[in-house]
Amino acid sequence: MDIYTIVFFLAMLAEIVIRAPLNQKRKAEKMSERRVTGQEKWFLFLLWIGMFILPIIYAATDWLDFARYQLPAWAGWTGGALIAGAVIVFWRAHADLGLNWSPTLEIREKHELITRGIYGVIRHPMYASQWLWSAAQALLLQNWIAGLASLAVFIPFYFLRVKAEEQLMLEQFGDQYRSYMEKVGAVFPKL
Ligand code: SAH
Repeated sequence: MDIYTIVFFLAMLAEIVIRAPLNQKRKAEKMSERRVTGQEKWFLFLLWIGMFILPIIYAATDWLDFARYQLPAWAGWTGGALIAGAVIVFWRAHADLGLNWSPTLEIREKHELITRGIYGVIRHPMYASQWLWSAAQALLLQNWIAGLASLAVFIPFYFLRVKAEEQLMLEQFGDQYRSYMEKVGAVFPKL
C-alpha cells in the first residue's frame, strides 16, 4: 500500500470515529418528519460503494490494477491536504449540528435550526467536506475506478439533495431559514 492510500484510510478512520457516537445517540430521537425516496436510497448506497467499498477493493486486491493512473507527487500531497481539510470540516459540522444531524432528510421533534459555529460560515459544511473528500480521493487513489467513484456519485447527489433539503428546511423554519440563506453561502462563504 502506498503512502497516499494509507492517508486515505486514516482519514476514513477519523470520519468513522467522529460519526459513530452521534449515530448511536440519535437512535433515541423521535422524528416528526422523514423524507426518503427510492432515488435517495440508491444514491446513499452508491455513495457508500464509491467512498468505502471500491477503495477497499483497490487497496486489498489487484482487481482494479488495469485502471491505474499516475500523478506527480505534488498532486498526491494536495490530495492529503484536501482530505485533512475534509476531516476538519466534517468534525466541526458534527460538533455544531449535534443531534439535528441525520444521514437522510429528517426533522426531529426537538429540531433546532443551527446557524452558529461552522453553520455561520456555510450552510452545508458536511457536503462541502464531501466535495473536498471526493476531489482528494481522485488525487490519492490514482485509479480511474476507485479514485473517481465518489465524485461520479456525489456530483448529481449534491444537487438533488440540497434542493430537497432546503425545501424541507424552508417548510419547517420559513422566514428564519430564508434569511439564513440570504446571509450564509451554501458551500462557499459569502464575502
Ligand atoms: N446540509 C447540512 C446537514 C447535512 S445532514 C450540511 O451539509 O452540513 C442532513 C440533515 O440536517 C437534514 O435532515 C436536515 O434536516 C438537517 N439540517 C440541515 N441544515 C440544518 C441546520 N442549519 N440546522 C439544523 N438542521 C439542519
